[in-house]
Amino acid sequence: MPAKRSIVPSWLGKFGVKEVNGRALCVICQHVYVAESIKPNKLQRHLETHRNIFALSEDARKRVFEKLAANLDKSQQIMMGSLNDEQKRQIFVLKTAFLIAKSKQPYVEGEVMIKPSLQNFVELFEGESFHRKVKTAADSVTLSDTTVWRRTVDCANDISQQVISYFKESPQKSIALDESTDNTSQPQLGIIWEIYKSTRKLERGVT
Ligand SMILES: [Zn+2]
Repeated sequence: MPAKRSIVPSWLGKFGVKEVNGRALCVICQHVYVAESIKPNKLQRHLETHRNIFALSEDARKRVFEKLAANLDKSQQIMMGSLNDEQKRQIFVLKTAFLIAKSKQPYVEGEVMIKPSLQNFVELFEGESFHRKVKTAADSVTLSDTTVWRRTVDCANDISQQVISYFKESPQKSIALDESTDNTSQPQLGIIWEIYKSTRKLERGVT
């Protein structure tokens, strides 16, 4: 059996590779390398497939890698359960509000549909005792229309801040403006922009 190659810390700045739970992981696409493929030339080849990042200067690339690695640490913290129950409840409400907003459903959907449906699912698959536990946890969370509306506003503000910072950080960007009138003759301004966020090209239209 070949000797296990250790993951070198400097690979983060060079190839965007970081050790997560003993495995080498690409911080851009979260690809996990198998032990045999952890060789600098393979890491380099993989990095070259992320053309937008590879095209950056060495310094800029390093900054991107460090930021992506920090984000990864944050999401790992969440997964590792280092949050207390109150923080978990808040994240659950935020995620639910985001889900409702994305699917353009009424704010009451959380309380009248999502909560009961979650409990039904758990009862069927995990049995009565676990269901009681989930019911207690769900009852301690409010998904009232007012709460969901407030969290939706928080999500919208956060998304708008993220878009502004992605826009500032994007190495290339384009923007187009267009004005037309809607069926009530009200003028509507459309802003269409494109930026690079990590490896993905984002497109958004804002009216
Ligand atoms: Zn990758």
